[in-house]
Parts: sequence; C-alpha cells; structure tokens
Amino acid sequence: LEEIQNFEGKYPKQLWYLFLVEMWERFCFYGMRGVLAIFMVDMLLLSDKEANLKYGAIQAFVYAFTFIGGVFADKILGFKKSLLFGGIVMITGNFLIGLDPEHFFYYGITLSIIGTGFFKPNISSMVGELYKEGDSRRDAGFSLFYSGINIGALLGGALCVYLGKFHGWNLAFFAAAAVMVIGIVIFLATKKSLAPIGNSPLMHLEPKKRGTREIAVYIGAALCIPLIHAMIENTDYTDYFMYAIGPAALIYFFFELSRQESSKVKKKLIAALLFIAFSIIFFAFFEQSGGSLSLFAKGNLTDKLLFFTIDPNIVNNVSNAFFVILFAPVLGLVWVALSKKKLEPNTVIKFGLGFLFLAGSFFILYSTKFFAGPDGITSLNIFTSAYLIMTLGELCLSPIGLSIITKLSPNRLVGMMMGLWFLASAYGQYAAGLLGANMASPNENATNLEKLNLYTDGYYQLAIYALIAGVVLILISPIIRKLMQEVK
Ligand code: GLN
Repeated sequence: LEEIQNFEGKYPKQLWYLFLVEMWERFCFYGMRGVLAIFMVDMLLLSDKEANLKYGAIQAFVYAFTFIGGVFADKILGFKKSLLFGGIVMITGNFLIGLDPEHFFYYGITLSIIGTGFFKPNISSMVGELYKEGDSRRDAGFSLFYSGINIGALLGGALCVYLGKFHGWNLAFFAAAAVMVIGIVIFLATKKSLAPIGNSPLMHLEPKKRGTREIAVYIGAALCIPLIHAMIENTDYTDYFMYAIGPAALIYFFFELSRQESSKVKKKLIAALLFIAFSIIFFAFFEQSGGSLSLFAKGNLTDKLLFFTIDPNIVNNVSNAFFVILFAPVLGLVWVALSKKKLEPNTVIKFGLGFLFLAGSFFILYSTKFFAGPDGITSLNIFTSAYLIMTLGELCLSPIGLSIITKLSPNRLVGMMMGLWFLASAYGQYAAGLLGANMASPNENATNLEKLNLYTDGYYQLAIYALIAGVVLILISPIIRKLMQEVK
C-alpha cells in the first residue's frame, strides 16, 4: 500500500486503470440510459408521461442502490469483489434486454440497477485509497477520474442512441453489455496492481467462512430482483421507496456514528453528511438537464450554434459531458498549481463556488428570455454558455465531493459514505423531476412564448436558491471546517 501511495508525478498509475474501467462502465450506463426513454415509447408503447415517470424511477433506484452496494462492500465483499459482481450483473442485464427486449426489459433493467449499486460507489472509494491522508494531489486525481466518467458518458450516449435508432434496439443493449465486458477485463488484468486496496474486510476469516457470507450477499441481491422489478413496473411504489430508503439510510448512518469511539471521527462524519445534504440541492437543479432543459431545448431554441446548424437537443445532451472532458483536467491542474502556492481553496469554498456557478448558469438560462423573438425561440449560443458555467460548477462540487468523502470517512465506512453520497443524487434526481414538472405548462396548447416565460421564470427562482445555498455554505464554512479538523 505504501508503495502505491508514495507514487511520484501527478497521478498514480492505478488511477489510469480505474479511469478506464469506470469509463467503460459509464459508457454502458449512459448508453443504456440514453436509449431508455425512447425505447419505452417505441418498443413498449408507453405514453410519454409513463415513460418519463419510469425513467425517473429507474434513475432514482440506480442511485439509491449504491447505498446498499457500498455497505456490503464495507462489511463483507470489499470493493474489488463488489465491483466485479456489479459489473457481471450489469452485463447480464443488458445482454438479456438485447436478447429479447420485449420480454426481458424489466428484468434487464432490474439487474442494471443492482449491478450499478454494487459497482458505482466502490470504484470511487478505491480511487480514494490510492492517496495517503493529506496528499494534496487527491482532488486533481478525482478530477481526472471524472473526465473518464464523462468520456464514457459521451461515447455511450452517442453510440447506443445511434445503434438503437438506426440498427435496432437489441444492438444498443448488446453494445452496452460488450463495453462493460471490456471494462471488467481491464479490471481483471490490472487488479493485481491495487495490492491490498479493495480487499474484503474479512480477510482474517478462513476462506470458507468468508465464502459463505459472500454467497449470502449474492443470494440477498438475487432476492431483491422481484422487489425492484415490481417497483419499476408500477411507479406508484417509487414514492414509497423514496420515502423509506433515505430515512433508513440515515438511521443506519447514525447507528454507525454512535459506534465510533473517537469524537474526531464522529465530527468528520457529520461534516461529510453536511456536504451530502448540500449535494442534494445541487443535483436537484443540475439534473434539470435531462428533464425541463431538454423540453426547453426541444421547443424554444434555434438550431444555430456559432457557425453551425445543429439540433438543440443534441447540444443539450452532449454539452455537459463535452465541457467536463475539456475542463476537468484543466481544473485539476489549477488545484495542483494553487496548492503549490498554498492558495488552494478548501473543500467548503469549492462547494460554495459550485453553487455560485450553478446560480450563474441559471441566471444565464433566465436571460435567454430577453433574446427571444415573438415566436418564443431563443439563442442556442447563450443556452450553451449556461451549460459551460454549470459544468464549471459541477467540477467544483461533484469530483470534489467524491474526494472529500474519501478524506472524511474512516476506512471501514468509506463504502457506506460513498453510497450515501450517491443516494443524495437519487434524491436530487427525484426532486429534479418534481421541480421540472412544476415549470412545465399545464396547458397542452400553450404557445412557445408562454412556455418560454414559464421555464425562464422557474430558472430565475432556481438561480436565486442556488445563490442562497452558495452564500449559506460560505457563511457556515467556519463551522464545517471545524468539524473537518485537519482535513482540507
Ligand atoms: N455524472 C456523474 C456520474 O455519472 C455524477 C453522477 C451523480 O453523482 N449524480 O458519475
């Protein structure tokens, strides 16, 4: 472990391996997600509304399951085995849908949800373990890792939608399964280099005993299949699930907290919980992207971007990932450079900045109103610049959030805390849907101009709230920093 953590240069080589594995996993995930809504409408003949509801439910479940995946990694499987198990389950899910989209759709999605739950939080936890406590290169590492996430997201979204639309839905899901195979093969080929990182916490038990517990986890996961299946088939249950999982997770968190002996550790965990709470607000606004912003893009934008003509919906779908890929490495370098001069802002300030950028982007979205013609069509250039600013905000918050979770959590609880971090995203997604629905005109026959006014008024409000959140965060930063103690 020492040897890994004492690496020279900007990034440890294991980071590149995990980068590639996560890139392919996100390719699979975003590929699947990209075709999901269209697939449900075209193949399962659901109405737009039903498809949207199910899409939202599936998103919420995916991120909610990370909590369960994280806890079992901490307690029994370790990160490596969780990741392998999750990956294989994701492959099976997508493969099944590819085989027979009509019959296996819900089973396939259920497997994707469980698989992602076991995979997604745990790979980020492993990235954290590549760094020693206090290593100032950690945030930059997570920024780089985050661009891998988005390269996968961009390619997966593009390729799977293309395959699905022009060559059949089966192929889209087969492609998602195939790239996940690549990810898992890379992981298998490089996992030795991770040495003890991600091993099962039960290594001290004899293999047989350990094996029995592992198998119990796999069986438990299998038992969840009919449950999740039922909940995505009938989205009425989603609300109940969301009412239950958050409080249950919190109770579990406080139970683990009470078992900690050191008050230092306790304080750090509370600080982590505060970051997690703020991230819910962030993602509730940020995730307008898949909902209200895509409708806005569809009805209220020209197709002129700089000197090109382009479908505004494509711009809406790819700008974020594109800007992440462009700016994540830059921002990573900025953090390293600032830390050399001892000027690097601490995490609370970075989060605050994230909200200020978020507020800025929603003010820009609001301002599109003033560039609209009487037909309610407005500038795609300005819309895209809002995405640029929003992405800068995301980069101050999302990779930094992954990083701070690994800094503030004791080793044995990293998985659970990472799970909580993504569970917050599940609530963010969920709230995003509600916010978006509030902005949509209840009147089907509303004109584009009326819709534009409703959306931009909504964005104005979001901008104000984001601004308040950012200011509050900066104001209470001394308190949070006290809780964080030596962690920056
Ligand atoms: N886009 C990032 C990812 O897919 C962040 C997701 C989130 O935390 N909501 O990993």
